[in-house]
Amino acid sequence: MSRALASQSPLILGVEDEPQVRRFLKAALEGANYRWMEASTGAEALRRAAEYLPEIILLDLGLPDMEGIDVCREIRKWSRATIIVLSARGQDREKVALLDTGADDYLTKPFSCDELLARIRAGLRRMARQSSDSTSGTFTCGPLKIDFSARRVFIHELEIQLTPIEFKLLGALAARSGQIVTKSQLLTEVWGPHSVEQSNYLRVYMTYLRRKLQGANHIIRTEAGVGYGLECP
Ligand code: CA
Repeated sequence: MSRALASQSPLILGVEDEPQVRRFLKAALEGANYRWMEASTGAEALRRAAEYLPEIILLDLGLPDMEGIDVCREIRKWSRATIIVLSARGQDREKVALLDTGADDYLTKPFSCDELLARIRAGLRRMARQSSDSTSGTFTCGPLKIDFSARRVFIHELEIQLTPIEFKLLGALAARSGQIVTKSQLLTEVWGPHSVEQSNYLRVYMTYLRRKLQGANHIIRTEAGVGYGLECP
């Protein structure tokens, strides 16, 4: 019985060339009852991801044989696993490029065990929600509820009025809740591909949106210089 249960807990693939970091990740994740598997190079990561189909992939940016972005791009061609990038401080540009390539989130080293587990739970929740939301047409995130077919938004069951742009912006975040959506992704989705440079639009409308979400505005997470994400409790 216990073996059957263990085999159903999510599988996490940690891609990291530093043994010390791998040891920390393994201890933290096995301690939280996840199944753990590791790779120390990009090539090994691609092989293991294809063979074992992990739910979550933790991807270090500094690998000996491949650029993290190439590993991410390859995996994204066929996998919907949550990819969480492990980056060093000051790698903002790489983080944004990785998110634009299909990574879901990132953690900046050094990170705590609690942060790691929180991001993994968010990734697993998002994957579960994506499969249920695609049929129901509604989205729920803590006090926020969006009815996409009726284009209505509720906070604690009270309807709030959003402009079409605010609705699109919130919808773009909701479609990838638990992920960080980069500024250029949001600008492209809401205002179109010609607006990628207009980050002032985004700043202004994000302020409007937050104001309308009132007591629920904490569910929007801001990553300075990178983008925004919806964090569902
Ligand atoms: Ca490394």
